[in-house]
Amino acid sequence: MKKNKNIVKKQVCRRCILDSNIPSISFNNEGICNYCEIHDEMDAQHPLNKQGKKELHKIIKEIKAKGKGKKYNCIIGVSGGVDSTYCLYLAKKLGLRPLAVHMDNGWDSELAVSNIEKTCRKLGVDLETKVLDWEVFKELQLAFLKASIPEIETPTDLAIRPILCQVAAKEGISYIINGQNFRTEGKIPLTWAYADNRYINYIYKKFGKNKKLNNYPKFTIKEYFYYGFIKRIKTVRILQYMDYRKDQVKKLLIKELDWKDYGGKHSESIFTRFLQNYILIKKFNIDKRKIHISAEVRSGHLSRFSAFKKINQEPITVEQAQSDQKYILKKLNLTEKEFDKIMISKPKTFLDYPSYFSLMRLFRSLIKIVYRVLEPTTPPLIVALDHMKIPSKLSKENQDLRNNEND
Ligand SMILES: [Zn+2]
Repeated sequence: MKKNKNIVKKQVCRRCILDSNIPSISFNNEGICNYCEIHDEMDAQHPLNKQGKKELHKIIKEIKAKGKGKKYNCIIGVSGGVDSTYCLYLAKKLGLRPLAVHMDNGWDSELAVSNIEKTCRKLGVDLETKVLDWEVFKELQLAFLKASIPEIETPTDLAIRPILCQVAAKEGISYIINGQNFRTEGKIPLTWAYADNRYINYIYKKFGKNKKLNNYPKFTIKEYFYYGFIKRIKTVRILQYMDYRKDQVKKLLIKELDWKDYGGKHSESIFTRFLQNYILIKKFNIDKRKIHISAEVRSGHLSRFSAFKKINQEPITVEQAQSDQKYILKKLNLTEKEFDKIMISKPKTFLDYPSYFSLMRLFRSLIKIVYRVLEPTTPPLIVALDHMKIPSKLSKENQDLRNNEND
């Protein structure tokens, strides 16, 4: 059947709950989306069978061998959330000697801090907290808000890796254990979460105080080679080797560690809670819950029926949104008028700004090979490029818009 592009009809994947409003989505003849295909590919890479168990066993053995005689044999970044807390719990159960590292970007909720401290104390794990330069970080977050792009969490996400690598190198640790997993998180569309150094530097300079980005942890090619090839630090996404079920794990953590639930993904940070449940949904029509819930449907943790019910629930109460907004505006020194202006400005994507994207697309095969040294998995950017049609430059509409702005 020939497709008529003029007919706007929302198509929903027959397996998960993603629909044609999700960027770069496509459907096969059976009506299954490419995000489901990505899941199956990852599932084949990390099977939940004997082979998968053997892989995990091999990695744990390697970590122990490499860390013999050292105080710590792995490092785990902790946020107080369920994934990282469980990584820490699991590491101890598997007989590892982890060092917990927390990056404080200024937005921790009290509950997050208490969860982290309690977990480390109960498990007997040392904790190192790294505090970001608040003035620089604040400026960077404001710049991302003003640039009208959805990657407002990028300044946080990009800073974690260099911090963990720095501590790992200092302590002589070779493994970073990471809580990311496709079975409950799914694949975030590239235009919702793109990041590279050129992009972040440009946004900071253009929408900040026209200065170079300093005093912020960076991971450039230099660091990449230093930590990857000289220090030989590897990342292990340990939860991908098991049938990680969040609801069950939460119950376990509450029982064993007196851990407290926040009632929402990433709600350990006040900023993230407000960003994901209010700014992204209201301004960008981005509901990341759809991606995560779809992942749980594919993993068999949730029926499709329950998933639709779950996505139709309000992500945040009006009172919570108001109180979060008040707190955040005050902390960012942003007036309500300025915030309203940000909320009504036209949404953009990374394709509207300079970045290394075209370069990375060109060298994707090389990146894939080099990345394998650090992680036994395909890098998220390459997964996106392999499965999604992503334009290399601005849409005509955005280009016209930019030309008008420059006039
Ligand atoms: Zn799907």
